[in-house]
Amino acid sequence: MMQAAREVSVFGDAIAYFNEAAELLDLEPGMRRLLTKPSRQIIFSIPFQRDSGELEVFTGYRVQYNFARGPAKGGIRYHPGVTLDEVTALAFWMTWKCAVVDLPFGGGKGGVTCDPLTLSKGELERITRRYAAELVEVVGPDKDVPAPDVGTTPQIMAWFMDTYSMHVRQHVPGVVTGKPLEIGGSRGRVEATGRGASLVALAQMRRMGIDPKGARIVIQGFGNVGSVAAQMFADAGCKVIAISDVTGAYASETGLDIANAVAYAQEHHSLDGFRGGDKITNDALLELDCDVLVPAALEKQLNVGNAARVNAKLIVEGANGPTTPDADHIFTQRGITTIPDIVANAGGVTVSYFEWAQNRAGYPWKESEVNERLADVMLDNFAKVSDLAQLRNVPLRTAAYMLAIDRVVASMNVRGVYA
Ligand code: GLU
Repeated sequence: MMQAAREVSVFGDAIAYFNEAAELLDLEPGMRRLLTKPSRQIIFSIPFQRDSGELEVFTGYRVQYNFARGPAKGGIRYHPGVTLDEVTALAFWMTWKCAVVDLPFGGGKGGVTCDPLTLSKGELERITRRYAAELVEVVGPDKDVPAPDVGTTPQIMAWFMDTYSMHVRQHVPGVVTGKPLEIGGSRGRVEATGRGASLVALAQMRRMGIDPKGARIVIQGFGNVGSVAAQMFADAGCKVIAISDVTGAYASETGLDIANAVAYAQEHHSLDGFRGGDKITNDALLELDCDVLVPAALEKQLNVGNAARVNAKLIVEGANGPTTPDADHIFTQRGITTIPDIVANAGGVTVSYFEWAQNRAGYPWKESEVNERLADVMLDNFAKVSDLAQLRNVPLRTAAYMLAIDRVVASMNVRGVYA
């Protein structure tokens, strides 16, 4: 019974990772209590009108986990599986993610329990505007700055920004990031998460003596993160031997033509019917013999059910929370290295920070400037995580949490706790 309860809580799993690092940092109990509770959780109803005229009600969430280093920051997820527990875990991870790459943000996350694939453009717009209107008092460039996540897009950010700006009667592009370029989005933002993941993956492969030329890469998820990472791996000379999306997995021992797969997915809105590889199951994909496995879909994909059969040298967590703590321990025992989510997928929020900074300055950057600074932030902080892992003889995940917790606690200590 206990086991089952623990398995369903994403936040519970997230806390387990935190506790391992907190133990090694000798974090005092009061600080530990404070950091394992969200600052603020908001739940509200989102009434909206279907195209048919029918009135429907969805549930919306925003969790502002921690503000020690700056405004809350994190995406908005539209997915049928969204719950308060999941959004809280995601906001918790954002706190450590922003800290581990040293951004002046706290952590937040939002979501709506809905299936965007079944909603028309008009329905999505109405849901988004009502979602934004409900949050007018608590978001803003110096309060909480949402962004895209699973199931949300630059267009959805544009509606959010427009609704907020209407309510406060001024133009506020910095209230969200991941916007279209036309209204203050940043060049390079769409590609940033996948780009960042492949940058740290290639750096770690060099360290482990894995030659990128011909390295066997498997990618789960072909959305914003997986498809861009696949392209970057292919550009570096790697052989991407399998990809997947909700419609299934597609594999080729000789390497898939990624440009072709990207074009196919763009045209058909999924990989359904893609003939560039053999169709295999998602379970089989996760167990393929490879150098690098990139889970870039949803939580808990790597768990006790498959961890013993995962056959990769390096796991690069493009998704948030793709590995359960039990599976993580199995990987460590088996000598499989993991670049944890809070580092591997921090490229997106890093360029979100650049977007926010560009909005505040009213001065857009060139794409080359964005990409150069993204590489600096990712590689500098990843080197710090690697050094700490070596120094303390701990896995990269524990080191990443230690560095992040240290930074958040330093801010909290100097500010003092208003208690
Ligand atoms: N949703 C992305 C993440 O999980 C980006 C968040 C942001 O840019 O604020 O990191």
